[in-house]
Amino acid sequence: QTCGNCRRLEVHVIKVVKFGGSSLASAEQFAKVGNIIRADKERKFVVPSAPGKRNSKDTKVTDMLYACYALAEADEDFRVPLMKIKDRYDSIINGLKLNLSLEEEFKIITENFKAKAGSDYAASRGEYLNGIIMANYLGYEFIDAAEVIFFEEEGAFDADKTHKVLSKRLEKMENAVVPGFYGSNPDGSIRTFSRGGSDITGSIVAKACNASMYENWTDVSGFLMADPRIVKKPKQIASISYKELRELSYMGASVLHEDAIYPARMANVPINIRNTNAPEDPGTMITAEAVHLESEDEPIITGIAGSKDFTVVALYKNMMSSERGFVRRILGVLDDYNVNFEHLPSGIDTVSVVMSNQSIGDRLDEIVDAFRTRLQPDSIDVIEDVALIATVGHRMSYRPGVSAKLFTALGDAEVNIRMIDQGSSEMNIIVGVDNKDFQKAIRAIYNAFVEEE
Ligand code: ASP
Repeated sequence: QTCGNCRRLEVHVIKVVKFGGSSLASAEQFAKVGNIIRADKERKFVVPSAPGKRNSKDTKVTDMLYACYALAEADEDFRVPLMKIKDRYDSIINGLKLNLSLEEEFKIITENFKAKAGSDYAASRGEYLNGIIMANYLGYEFIDAAEVIFFEEEGAFDADKTHKVLSKRLEKMENAVVPGFYGSNPDGSIRTFSRGGSDITGSIVAKACNASMYENWTDVSGFLMADPRIVKKPKQIASISYKELRELSYMGASVLHEDAIYPARMANVPINIRNTNAPEDPGTMITAEAVHLESEDEPIITGIAGSKDFTVVALYKNMMSSERGFVRRILGVLDDYNVNFEHLPSGIDTVSVVMSNQSIGDRLDEIVDAFRTRLQPDSIDVIEDVALIATVGHRMSYRPGVSAKLFTALGDAEVNIRMIDQGSSEMNIIVGVDNKDFQKAIRAIYNAFVEEE
């Protein structure tokens, strides 16, 4: 658009802001959110979650809805639990002194529960009702996510249809509230994303309006370099690339829903994780390309994450390297048992198959037998109870001595390394250690790269 007087290009900067459940758990939290939104007029599109916990003993409204609907499904009386849910919303409405009643909405919900509208419908009401309150509070337009977020017949998110409809709808709007977490099936019924899915909606909205930024407001000031339950006061990550984050979240670092990265990444929209309770903190910036901050005190690594309970099956066979189809047969076995492999590190005559205990279930013996008969290896070693730890950082790839430092740290801490895998992007070193060494290993790596620099 050009501005009449100066004929300069007028850039309309749009920020999409998503607020998590704890940011919207009470009227006080809503008021903080209101201040944040009003402090920056670029914050035009708002994606709320359902009210979360007000304290550690509290229950999220989403969980209350699932429990309430389970009663409806079993033809039991659900009026009291539904009233408790209504009370949660009413206390927000009253606390904010809004002129709004959800009476009619709750009548409809009651009817739909009786008609067994489904647990997705039930859960989605958490964000739907919070969206209505948010729109009323801000004086923004309310868009029911069922009209703009779509799923395909088999349940996959329909990115094309959603983008088409949503971008058109937002184009004409100055401001709007789009509740997170749900959309609609081709038959109009409601479907939700997986738990924590409001993050995904925020990312989809950011892509649809070509936002300059997707701010994801939560109750922490962004990502930490390691799990604070393991490392004492880990440093904050100021900036991280999508790829690094993907590696870390895959390995267990949570804050943002895994599937929330993709839409924003497609549209090249940076994501800023911010803290509703400390809005002055800059949080963590997630960008398409790694930001090279070349400051002296910047750690070589971006973060450390990991999880426990994997099994490594190491296969040895003389001259394996010249035998065709060996890996194909490994994959055939995994396919037959419907097991995902996490890693497949290989040596000259060895291949290790790393699988999560969860996907193996109680079939380990059968799977090992299948490897034995179909691959005829000279020997098979099975190492159970392995924890995987990923040390991630784009700066690692062009600095020599990183792996030496990592292995020395683990050696000094007397941690036995059971497996090593370096991602081909070179920004990731994964080690397998005994479950019992999991915490010790993470602390050793953190201290070597961050504290002792
Ligand atoms: N309210 C939903 C949940 O608790 C979705 C979300 O908060 O993102 O999972």
